[in-house]
Amino acid sequence: MTGTFKFHIDTWGCQMNVLDSERMAGLLQARGHVRAGEVQDADVLLFNTCNVREKAESKLYSELGLYSGWKRERSGRVIGVTGCVAQQEGGRILENLPYVDFVLGTGNVEKLPEAIERAAERPQYLEFVTDSPVYQFHQISRGSHFQAFVTAIEGCDQFCTFCVVPFTRGRERSRRSSEIVAEVSELAQKGYTEITLLGQTVNAYRCPETGISLAELLAGLSRIEEIARLRFLTSHPAFVTPEFARALGQYPRIARYFHLPAQSGSDRILRRMKRRYTAGEYLETLELVRREAPDVVFSSDFIVGFPGETEEDFEQTLRLIREAQFGSVFAFVYSPRPGTAASRWGRETEVPLEVARERLERVLELQREIQRRQNEDLKGRTYEVLVEGDSKHGLSLKGRTSCNRIVHFDPPGRDRVRAGEYVHVRIEKGFENSLRGALA
Ligand code: SF4
Repeated sequence: MTGTFKFHIDTWGCQMNVLDSERMAGLLQARGHVRAGEVQDADVLLFNTCNVREKAESKLYSELGLYSGWKRERSGRVIGVTGCVAQQEGGRILENLPYVDFVLGTGNVEKLPEAIERAAERPQYLEFVTDSPVYQFHQISRGSHFQAFVTAIEGCDQFCTFCVVPFTRGRERSRRSSEIVAEVSELAQKGYTEITLLGQTVNAYRCPETGISLAELLAGLSRIEEIARLRFLTSHPAFVTPEFARALGQYPRIARYFHLPAQSGSDRILRRMKRRYTAGEYLETLELVRREAPDVVFSSDFIVGFPGETEEDFEQTLRLIREAQFGSVFAFVYSPRPGTAASRWGRETEVPLEVARERLERVLELQREIQRRQNEDLKGRTYEVLVEGDSKHGLSLKGRTSCNRIVHFDPPGRDRVRAGEYVHVRIEKGFENSLRGALA
């Protein structure tokens, strides 16, 4: 395709994908192309896919099926598929959907402009690259003017038996710390104050040049004056070190929020998942961090109905949740992902869906109770809140504490408080999922 064009990106999935879409948009805008307001106005349509949820491949095929007509309506239109489903399905997408012009694997975002330019010549399948990632970070088209995602590490070497990430995102590759510092410094100069460092196992980070760890990287970044909050997502419990816990205690600009997926409270299931820790070790890790930084709030992920999970295993998960007292929990019913070890296990270990669903409801109910109690106890406390914008119903403003709690408040004279500002809010009431307060 030659000349400038309008593009539309449909993004599925996690923060990694959101950032990849921001990078794609930035690369295209730097070449003079513009975002289309509607799909109908676009010349180029990109699907940045995710396969963490069930049946992502069939979702892709049924969604894309709707666009063969779109493509025919105007000559020269281009459709590209990127992200994790693109990586996994590869050339099969081109075989099954002949009107798709290219499939771009993960880690190949920088090749997007070239793939679009060559779309008319032939269908293309570009696999992912496995070197240390290098970004044109100056060109990222960010979705916010005060919060930004920055990649620290890509891929994963853990091969948990349920997870597809090592197959779709490749082996672990850390970015050079000098490049991360340069990106965050540039963001600070542009007015960004909250940075989230991203990686599938972000706390496995090691600079390929200097060997510095995530703790050292965060310590260095917290010296950048303009940056008020540093977040990091997602961590693996086996890589939480005493050094990292000390850094959390020492540097208050590192957010008081720690997402640490446990996945199960049963040692037997954790072994089957190949998670490399026991439930006891997981709880000791929380203790280690809480000793150094008592105000850190943890959240976690759980899979229920993992193959072979008995009622006894599940009750150990409930026990762990009770002991850990998480600020929030993300829980899912297990479903097999193509290519993973667990997807090849026999049907005899499967947990019936209705049993798994009932367990999910029990996890969520327990966690709702914990959150309700925790949030009610926060009445009377004052938090610094980063204002993110209007509440859903539009009457109040919504912001987030450093410990990632959502706070709604009605400022007197709304024009005086804008998204991106930090304000102090005194909590008046706690609910299951949020807090309500007034400016202090
Ligand atoms: S550590 Fe996380 S990303 Fe890596 S394989 Fe396990 S679940 Fe997947």
